[in-house]
Amino acid sequence: ESVMAGENYEDVMDAKQKSQDLAEKSALEELQEVRRSLPIYTYRDQLLKAVEEHQVLVIVGDTGSGKTTQIPQYLHEAGYTKRGKVGCTQPRRVAAMSVAARVAQEMGVKLGHEVGYSIRFEDCTSDKTVLKYMTDGMLLRELLGEPDLASYSVVIVDEAHERTLSTDILFGLVKDIARFRPDLKLLISSATMDAEKFSDYFDTAPIFSFPGRRFPVEINYTSAPEADYMDAAIVTVLTIHVREPLGDILVFFTGQEEIETAEEILKHRIRGLGTKIRELIICPIYANLPSELQAKIFEPTPEGARKVVLATNIAETSLTIDGIKYVVDPGFSKMKSYNPRTGMESLLITPISKASATQRAGRAGRTSAGKCYRLYTAFNYNNDLEENTVPEVQRTNLASVVLALKSLGIHDLINFDFMDPPPAEALVKSLELLFALGALNKLGELTKAGRRMAEFPLDPMLSKMIVVSDKYKCSDEIISIAAMLSIGGSIFYRPKDKQVHADNARMNFHTGNVGDHIALLKVYSSWKETNYSTQWCYENYIQVRSMKRARDIRDQLEGLLERVEIEISSNLNELDSVRKSIVAGFFPHTAKLQKNGSYRTVKHPQTVHIHPNSGLSQVLPRWVVYHELVLTSKEYMRQVTELKPEWLIELAPHYYQLKDVEDAASKKMPKGAGKAAM
Ligand code: ADP
Ligand code: MG
Repeated sequence: ESVMAGENYEDVMDAKQKSQDLAEKSALEELQEVRRSLPIYTYRDQLLKAVEEHQVLVIVGDTGSGKTTQIPQYLHEAGYTKRGKVGCTQPRRVAAMSVAARVAQEMGVKLGHEVGYSIRFEDCTSDKTVLKYMTDGMLLRELLGEPDLASYSVVIVDEAHERTLSTDILFGLVKDIARFRPDLKLLISSATMDAEKFSDYFDTAPIFSFPGRRFPVEINYTSAPEADYMDAAIVTVLTIHVREPLGDILVFFTGQEEIETAEEILKHRIRGLGTKIRELIICPIYANLPSELQAKIFEPTPEGARKVVLATNIAETSLTIDGIKYVVDPGFSKMKSYNPRTGMESLLITPISKASATQRAGRAGRTSAGKCYRLYTAFNYNNDLEENTVPEVQRTNLASVVLALKSLGIHDLINFDFMDPPPAEALVKSLELLFALGALNKLGELTKAGRRMAEFPLDPMLSKMIVVSDKYKCSDEIISIAAMLSIGGSIFYRPKDKQVHADNARMNFHTGNVGDHIALLKVYSSWKETNYSTQWCYENYIQVRSMKRARDIRDQLEGLLERVEIEISSNLNELDSVRKSIVAGFFPHTAKLQKNGSYRTVKHPQTVHIHPNSGLSQVLPRWVVYHELVLTSKEYMRQVTELKPEWLIELAPHYYQLKDVEDAASKKMPKGAGKAAM
């Protein structure tokens, strides 16, 4: 009898296991069916044949046709991963993470095993990883440790049309590697039609282009220019929701703050409309959105409801969300702009190009006919928008890539093989900056400090601040500040109904007008003292997620300190050392108070203001150092700390002369102007 029972038990368990296996299998099988329905599937064998026959191949196909998710899998299935990894670069972190997650799911493996991703401060790969998605910046960093990319059999430079700075630099480097590594396959994949340009650049590499599936998209313009695109976007979304047949909506905003504002206003207005209208599910997506929430945008919309995705440029070509039928395009994006004459860089809300507008509209016609609402006039479109977005290499500060190239042993930057060269002035400016930071010597060679700086995946000014903190014995404090400055998202939150409380909590960290950097340090150390308490974050109106990210980044910076042989040392009683380290890195970002309460940058005079969120916005110290400039209604300095002008001479003698800081030393300096100094 016992034997019988045993058999029975095993039978039951067996059946259970089998049905579970079946369920899993059918989910996988369903995904395989979806894979086979993608436009690229028809061309799978032709594509593999072309890869076999050519070392370098330019691939062009519509957004959403399966390039990013399928090509690496095809290569894996064809055996390329037996000889090395397949690496696929993405200009955006979110895309790298989300696409890797999708591919892991399609292959039925755990993310981080066979399929992984690597983005700055986050490595989700293992020894098993054969398909590796990564940001273009990460592959650039990997080159520092593996200059011939020996562990790769294929490198795909994906979303090449985005022309980010890192992608453009990679072009030059991988082109060179391909010459002495005939076994390396190089695929350049793009969503737009500049294929000829890519092909020309890569020694007339063949172009593999395949048609996507496009449905007609009706384009609507506004009859008059919109004064407030936020308001116009909200009204448009609500109008679509009330009047138009079902189908999801995609709205393009310029950044996280705008998206959060839009979400809040939309929720409020929807409530005002009562219960008669159908459900509207709001899904934000931007670079710093936590990954659990990122996945939400891909969940199918429930029957009878409508989804509205509030996105940054990320949804223009990097991510494809199925089911979008309506696109709302205010016509702007946030872009870096750089003035090579002054060396100043600023984030700027800029009109998009016609090429971008076309991509955005195209997102409405992927699964059926759609509509695009452009919140600008047809005249505007025809006469004011540029044809193409200017590649980043021509509108950004080059210091960090120049430092990377120098550490790769590439010295002749003027003759570097750029697809579109940066202005010579910009190159010279970045060399000058690296010299002033002590990363390069007079001959333009990397110094010991420069070598150490290149180890950090940070802007050279931040790396300098860290390297110099060794001298001032405050590396412990400085890496906390560097981590807090590198989070990307906001640290404080300010709910509409509790603004006063939130502002008070924030000002607590500013007691003594210590400056924003020290306030950030206080936030971090107070949180650490509570043993990283979530409750403490709630009580102080601080974003828990941002803090956790800061801790992760800080851990990694601590690891890197060890690598460059800098000891962790703490000097909390001497905050001047902390501030000196900041100035030693950020001395090009200094400004002096004017009579009217505005500031003037010291080296290349330009009018700037302290950002209203700064703890010093009411204090107005005479001399300040700032982290970055942001141009909104005015040119604002964000993250500001007071400095003593004589430090500039002491810390940056190659950059500042006495005359730059002169009036500080004279008696003209008003009494008490330095009172917040410690
Ligand atoms: P391309 O690179 O050509 O633009 P992709 O390979 O990114 O195309 O997308 C192919 C398909 O995979 C699209 O239908 C897209 O919606 C789907 N997809 C991509 N990432 C995800 C994800 N994280 N979750 C669900 N579907 C996804
Ligand atoms: Mg893609």
